Amino acid sequence: MVGIGDKLLGYATNPDVRNRGASGGLVTAVLAAALEKGMVEGVVVLKRIDEYEAIPVITDDVQEVLASGGSMHAVPVNLAKYAVGRKIAMPGKPCDVRGVIEQAKRNGVELEDTYIVGLNCGGAMHPVVTREMLTRMYEIDPEDVVGEEIEKGKLIFKTKDGEEKAISIDELEEAGYGRRENCRYCTIKIPTNADLACGNWGVIGELAGSATFCEVMNEKGKRLLDNAIEAGFIEVQPADEKSIAIREKVNKAMLKLGDEWKGRLLTEIPDQERLTYYIEQFADCIDCGACREVCPVCTCGEESKCTMFHSLADNYKMSMYHMVRLLHLSDSCIGCGQCSDVCPVDIPVTTIFRRFADPAQKKRDYSPGMDLQRPPFLELMLK
Ligand SMILES: Cc1cc2nc3c(=O)[nH]c(=O)nc-3n(C[C@H](O)[C@H](O)[C@H](O)COP(=O)(O)OP(=O)(O)OC[C@H]3O[C@@H](n4cnc5c(N)ncnc54)[C@H](O)[C@@H]3O)c2cc1C
Ligand code: SF4
Ligand code: SF4
Ligand code: SF4
Repeated sequence: MVGIGDKLLGYATNPDVRNRGASGGLVTAVLAAALEKGMVEGVVVLKRIDEYEAIPVITDDVQEVLASGGSMHAVPVNLAKYAVGRKIAMPGKPCDVRGVIEQAKRNGVELEDTYIVGLNCGGAMHPVVTREMLTRMYEIDPEDVVGEEIEKGKLIFKTKDGEEKAISIDELEEAGYGRRENCRYCTIKIPTNADLACGNWGVIGELAGSATFCEVMNEKGKRLLDNAIEAGFIEVQPADEKSIAIREKVNKAMLKLGDEWKGRLLTEIPDQERLTYYIEQFADCIDCGACREVCPVCTCGEESKCTMFHSLADNYKMSMYHMVRLLHLSDSCIGCGQCSDVCPVDIPVTTIFRRFADPAQKKRDYSPGMDLQRPPFLELMLK
């Protein structure tokens, strides 16, 4: 039996699942065991189409879960909305987990029925930008790529003829490639808000590349792991001091880098320049509504206030649709990047929203999606 707070190294007992897994296949095996033993009715996994595309599916087929291992760094989809109204288990980057918790605060998700296996996250890349980066920076045909990994600050792509090419992430990002802008200034790297926090930081020595570091965050996480061990799907052992220290050190370095990017990209806009800034930023908006559709923390539905102003007949200088959204999301925006990812006219919606929400959240020392205890501050203000 494991305990809350335990820090473990583990892997799937099935060698195929372990090999296919990003680290040790533990996440896949834990999700599959939860389904096999009836803890949940379904599991959310990514169904891979190619190196740059995958569709989230909810499956009740244990074999489909077992086949779903591996991390897709060029698939930045947010999985939070897949948890709405279902009794499921799911993997989740910190922003996926934050979306689920914000949904739970607004009664969209029943957290007691939802199991979340969190994934550490250094960042995700946009698939279209990744293809362009491969052509321009790596001089590789994107169709020739068969695998990718990150090692010692370098992003490495492997091609079907066995070649490997590595470029430092700093260099890629200076050239406008690499991780999405929001991932650079994201400062939640270990999903302490999930039931389990899993990753490869701290996995060293013989186990490097074939085990997953897993921290048990709460009672549900304990249940997930105990179930998987009892079902024979995983084996675990305590992580030693050195592993724990390395994970902590890398996390600290990533958070420092995140803060540096925040300093560069989320500068405060002087009061007198605000209206001009928003008018200019949204000047090319075609009112398609995609940014609202994908937002994992939006729960208002079709009758929302922002939708009422969402038309070309909204003939203010500055679209009221965005004004309402900026205000409404000031307490709940988690900076997941989905709105920028889908914008057909390349407006950096996420950064615009973060520049508005960040000071408000900082002022109230409020980090949305990190725990269920603190209510959203707008709600408290309205009361
Ligand atoms: C974008 C991204 C960045 C990451 N960065 C780091 C890092 O910097 N440091 C670190 O220690 N670990 C990082 N991880 C986690 C690491 O890659 C492994 O997922 C983790 O170690 C668990 O390994 P595993 O073999 O147990 O998981 P697996 O058994 O391989 O299971 C992985 C699970 O993740 C799901 N998944 C795959 N891609 C995504 C995605 N893009 N979004 C949501 N779910 C997905 C799969 O469907 C599967 O359920 C990252 C993961 C992702 C997805
Ligand atoms: S926003 Fe944060 S958690 Fe989400 S993909 Fe980017 S780095 Fe990972
Ligand atoms: S406004 Fe954009 S960045 Fe913020 S939570 Fe919604 S989709 Fe994510
Ligand atoms: S996705 Fe882009 S174009 Fe569409 S409504 Fe949002 S900001 Fe406007």
